[in-house]
Order: sequence, then structure tokens, then C-alpha cells
Amino acid sequence: MTPQDRLTDEAGRIAALRRYQILDTPAEGGFDKITDMVRALVGVPISAVSLIDTNRQWFKSHVGLDVAETPRSVAFCDHAIRQDAPLIIPDACADARFCDNPLVTGDPGIRSYAGVPLRTPEGYNVGSLCAIDTRARDFAPEQMAILQGLAPIVIEQMELRLLAERDGLSGALTRRAFVAAIDRQIALFTRHQRPAALVLLDIDHFKRVNDDHGHPAGDRVIEAVADLCRTLSRPSDSLGRLGGEEFGLLLPETSEADAMAAARRFCDAVAAQVIPHDPPLRVTASFGVAALGGDRMTSHSWLAAADAALYEAKRAGRNRVALAPPPTARAA
Ligand code: GH3
Ligand code: MG
Ligand code: MG
Repeated sequence: MTPQDRLTDEAGRIAALRRYQILDTPAEGGFDKITDMVRALVGVPISAVSLIDTNRQWFKSHVGLDVAETPRSVAFCDHAIRQDAPLIIPDACADARFCDNPLVTGDPGIRSYAGVPLRTPEGYNVGSLCAIDTRARDFAPEQMAILQGLAPIVIEQMELRLLAERDGLSGALTRRAFVAAIDRQIALFTRHQRPAALVLLDIDHFKRVNDDHGHPAGDRVIEAVADLCRTLSRPSDSLGRLGGEEFGLLLPETSEADAMAAARRFCDAVAAQVIPHDPPLRVTASFGVAALGGDRMTSHSWLAAADAALYEAKRAGRNRVALAPPPTARAA
């Protein structure tokens, strides 16, 4: 595929963006420092890291701008990603493409714009780093050089974030990132009383797989079990790898009964799965389920409750699901 083809390969571009799993995540200091630098060094009131999703632009960082996203149809950045050179608009009111844009005629009153595409290592423009002013102006070559120097750093930041949060073998969240997701779920529960459940699973007698078929075969089993969990879970669920052959599934908006039903489906599916290998491999897994609430209001106590249930499933014979006792009311 030529670089020109990549500019028009929208499906490939969206896949490249999705790989970062960054849309709708909270603000992060690293990105905000870059947009702060753009404001100071380019001398603009507004700077953003804008990512162009299918139908919207979503800001990973936005300083001087109140909104977290806009429709794609009004996004200046959607023009910036269609070319590899920076997009410079000295006066939006004098530009037929933008003069009646609601972001120009209304809030925040954009009048000039400079955006540099955020280009992934595979060559897709997933968004732009932009400097925005509310007055007509030129952008000097050295100011554009700053934007062009910082844009690859934004992509590097996105790559590093992915490396730190995703386990290389299974693609699941690392333990640290999974615990952070649990902490966010607990905060939602505290604020809005949203139910959630945690499912821990551990592959049964996994040491035998390694011993009988070798470590690479064990790795294939870990990948296959993670793939299966992803296939069976909802997009809003999170999968984390908590240890060698132990995974966690965080199920938001899920009651204890629904989580038990889900865990039983996972359990049956793992047992039924035939993993391509010579000879083909089959494994089972044990599951522990714990609902959020009561005395389980820290990641530590919630994980411990699910872990105790998992231990119970192992003790009772493996290849089964056990439920933690209902959370007890917190002491007043
Ligand atoms: P149980 O049913 O009680 O869970 O038994 P088990 O054999 O699964 O439990 P144990 O925790 O004793 O063994 C886990 C094994 O997983 C030991 C370790 O060598 C192996 N392991 C950990 N990480 C990896 C990995 O990334 N790849 C492979 N192939 N094996 C791993
Ligand atoms: Mg095990
Ligand atoms: Mg284990």
C-alpha cells in the first residue's frame, strides 16, 4: 500500500486508531504537557490532541477548549488528516471550507488554525496536534517546526501507553492497568451506585500443559483463552492478565446473577475449546465471581473476595464457577 493509499484507507485508519484503545479515556498528564507547550511556544489560547473517530473528533487533551468532542463534520482536524503536510488556516472567515463552520461562527470562535497530522508507525493519520487562535494570524516557520516536532512525540506517548497497559502475549490489560480500571469502577459505584462484578479465572493444571507439550504450547493456550474471553465479553468489559495463567474480567453494569451466568458461559466455552496444536489441546478453568459493594470498596478487598471464590472453585474440583458470599454491609 502506498502512502497515498493510506490517506484514503478509512477502515485501516480506524483500525490503527482502535489499536491504541485510547478513545474516551481520562486525561493524562503527558498529553496535557504537550498541548500546554504548544500554547506557550506557538502563542495560542487553544491547543488540542484531536483523534478522528468514525463520526466524531475526540480530544485526548484540550487546553483552552471546554468540549471533550465534536461531530466529525465540523472538525478542522478532519481536514488535517487528509494530507501529510501540516494544515494552516490563517483566517477561517476567509476560507470557504470553514467560514460558516459553527466552531467559527459560535463558540469557541476559531479564527485561525494550524494542525499537524498524528501519523502512526504504519502510516495512518489518526488525528492531529493543533494550535488554534481566536484572531486571524500567520504561523511562523519556527512555530510550525515546534508543532511538527511535537506531533511524533504524541504518537510515541500513545505507543508507550499501549506498551505499559497491555500484556504482549494475550493483549489483555496488565495487572496495574486492570487494577486502575477496577478503581475507576469503584469510583462510579460510589458516585452513581452503578452495579459491577468481577470474575477471576485460572487455567486448571496448567503446569501439565507446559510439562507435557512445552512452554510455547502453554503460550498458545494462554492466548486462546484470552481470545475466547474477549469474544464472549461485551465491549464495555475489561480483560486483565493478573498472573501467568490467571485472568480477571471486570463486568460493569452487571448484577451478581448475571455475572454468574456469564462466568458459567465462559467456563463451558473454555472446556469446549479445541486449541490448534499437534496434538490439539484442551484445557479447563476455574472461576471466582464477586459483586461490588458493602465491605468490598477497594480494589484489594474486591479482588480478594473474587480470589477466595476462585480458590473455592479449585477446592471443589476445578472446571467450575464459585460465588463469593454477598458483600457484608460496611460498618457505620
Ligand atoms: P491449578 O489447577 O491449581 O491452577 O494448577 P496449575 O498447574 O495451573 O497452577 P500453578 O500456578 O502451579 O502453575 C502455573 C504455571 O504457569 C506455572 C508457570 O510455569 C506457568 N506459566 C506462568 N506464566 C506463563 C507463561 O507466560 N507462559 C507459559 N507457557 N507458562 C506460564
Ligand atoms: Mg492454574
Ligand atoms: Mg495460577
